[in-house]
Amino acid sequence: MAELTDRFGTMVFSEDVMKRVLPKDVCRRLFATIEEGEPLDLDVANAVAHAMKTWAIEHGATHYAHWFQPLSGITSEKHDSFLEPVGDGTAITKFTGKALIQGEPDASSFPNGGLRATFEARGYTAWDPTSPAFIKDDVLCIPTAFCGYNGEALDKKTPLLRSMKVLDTQAKRVLALFGKHPKRVVPTVGCEQEYFLIKKDAYRRRRDLVICGRTLFGAPPCKGQELEEHYFGAIRPSVSKYMKALDDELWALGIPSKTKHNEVAPCQHELAPVFSEMNQAIDNNMLIMEKMKLVASRFDLTCLLHEKPFEGINGSGKHDNWSLSTADENLLDPGDTPLENLQFVVFLTAVIEAVDKYQELLRMSVASCGNDHRLGANEAPPAIVSIFLGDQLTEVVQKIMDGKASVHATHGVLDLGADVLPNLEQDNTDRNRTSPFAFTGNKFEFRAVGSEANPSDSNLVLDTAVAEALMEFADALETVPAEQFEEAALEYCKQHLNEHRRILFSGDGYSDEWKAEAERRGLANLHTTADALPEMVSKKAIALWERMGVLTETEAFSRYEVKLEKYNKLMNIEATTMIREARRTYRPQITAYATKVARGLDVFRGVGIDSTMQSEQDTLNTLCDGITKINVAIKELDELHQKAEAIMDAQEQANCYAHEVNPAMETLRAAVDAMEEIVAADYWPVPTYDDILFYV
Ligand code: ADP
Ligand code: MG
Repeated sequence: MAELTDRFGTMVFSEDVMKRVLPKDVCRRLFATIEEGEPLDLDVANAVAHAMKTWAIEHGATHYAHWFQPLSGITSEKHDSFLEPVGDGTAITKFTGKALIQGEPDASSFPNGGLRATFEARGYTAWDPTSPAFIKDDVLCIPTAFCGYNGEALDKKTPLLRSMKVLDTQAKRVLALFGKHPKRVVPTVGCEQEYFLIKKDAYRRRRDLVICGRTLFGAPPCKGQELEEHYFGAIRPSVSKYMKALDDELWALGIPSKTKHNEVAPCQHELAPVFSEMNQAIDNNMLIMEKMKLVASRFDLTCLLHEKPFEGINGSGKHDNWSLSTADENLLDPGDTPLENLQFVVFLTAVIEAVDKYQELLRMSVASCGNDHRLGANEAPPAIVSIFLGDQLTEVVQKIMDGKASVHATHGVLDLGADVLPNLEQDNTDRNRTSPFAFTGNKFEFRAVGSEANPSDSNLVLDTAVAEALMEFADALETVPAEQFEEAALEYCKQHLNEHRRILFSGDGYSDEWKAEAERRGLANLHTTADALPEMVSKKAIALWERMGVLTETEAFSRYEVKLEKYNKLMNIEATTMIREARRTYRPQITAYATKVARGLDVFRGVGIDSTMQSEQDTLNTLCDGITKINVAIKELDELHQKAEAIMDAQEQANCYAHEVNPAMETLRAAVDAMEEIVAADYWPVPTYDDILFYV
């Protein structure tokens, strides 16, 4: 096997490859585009396309594809062969700069939230040179943005790139006040990805898993996660083989998969790559999810990315680690030189302000049909957004808010009275796992993101909100004479931290006391997707999107509509599956078993054994009772489902699904699950949680 380092990036048209295969001048001009956003001209594109094609074919590629992220949340690709017939029965290979820069997929089937009528079917994809091309399954994949003809964003990437740009601009204004002029400020992201891995055979026999990605039925297993034996436990051989193969595929794609371990729940695992620039980190996360699923099938396993595949067992999230960096420094690293502390405090204040001001929007960004079952379920961050800073940083912030910090008169240095900051990096011990948004040493970790989500949505909100906070800081401080800057900056932070202090919370985010306390503080608690989605287009949100130039009002509304539609469709699928499964799979088997018991009862009666007769009679009564409950619950769910489907307004429909259909689904589930515990094992029609979750 090749050296470990040689297994990395073999399928990526990386900076290293470009330097080797591109003419010097082309390379320089391409890097100017990548690093400084210079427009790319066709000559350069032609040269790059030619080199890319040659390299790709050498590496086994036969096709190319613009690889993009439509609003459906997954990735899309249409493959075109490099071959071009020349008319004499032979063919040449061809890939032009134009084909590299722009594609024109027939986009009518992608969700657009009313942005384009289907007769204006064409959108176009535009090369994003800041994320490298790669070869996947013999196809050269070119990361692209996807827009309508008037430039309206139809994907997740376009606004994300816009948000990165405004964040760069505003962060640089702030740094200029500190006398620093970096070329670029980029948000960095590291996504810890949780997932379940189960046997394919068990998966195939559960229609709810196949169709909905989660179990709609299932009594709790005899053993769950209470023994805490899975977290960081030895990885079972079948899973280990899978993880090795997965790592290898990811490394080949230049994805720095780093950490892998067993998670809390049985069959649950985590993969974390080394962080990178946001745009690339998100592209990588999409590939990680795709590869997780594909590689599993080679090992007779199925990877479940749903946020809550099993009730009563921890669900899966995607911790979105977020920070801001220049080429020289991480702006959220408190560092150990006091001179930098004020700068750190300014950026910290901006994040706190952004998260408090746009807490509803952040909550909205993680809302999905699947995540509704996870958030607030006493194992995942609550639906209430709050920030955990850790003891030492809380002390720093407290001092600033109380006016106890000052700027050192002679050095312009932040003086906190005691040197609390330098040890912060070691401060990993008092992590609060119940917080949705936690400071972890030199970055923030947004933990409410769902495992299946495209993390663009949350990062879009974070970037844009922080950019606005930084902009307001720069607006206020740029007019202050240089010699008064530090004092004025500290005063600004003091005021703004005080204004937004309600978002800071160090206690147990799972507790009921916190819910009450959060309500007293006026923090939002949006329970379901239906409640959270309107925040995408609230007055405050639209003002933010437009002010920062990240989304137009129309684009914001289109995204809201797409999310609503997706939620409603998924709920419709779940309700349909549930009714059908209850009627056709569970009820007949429960009835069959009841019939068997009834027959047995006759036999016992014949031989006159009273005690057995009584216990069989009790069982039969419970079964008949259960069948009645199931019938009633099916009927009720069916009616509410039909009611929901008849509602024309998408928001009202979502409300009905969230607040009426969903509870009816829970009732039906409970009725069926109760029967699972008494029906004979060989009568039960599907693998149970015990069967699925514990395998070797
Ligand atoms: P834990 O599970 O203890 O939170 P992990 O090591 O599993 O930590 O994951 C932490 C993630 O945070 C990794 O993906 C890591 O690369 C990422 N990370 C570290 N520093 C930064 C940073 N400055 N910006 C963004 N992400 C970061
Ligand atoms: Mg983490």
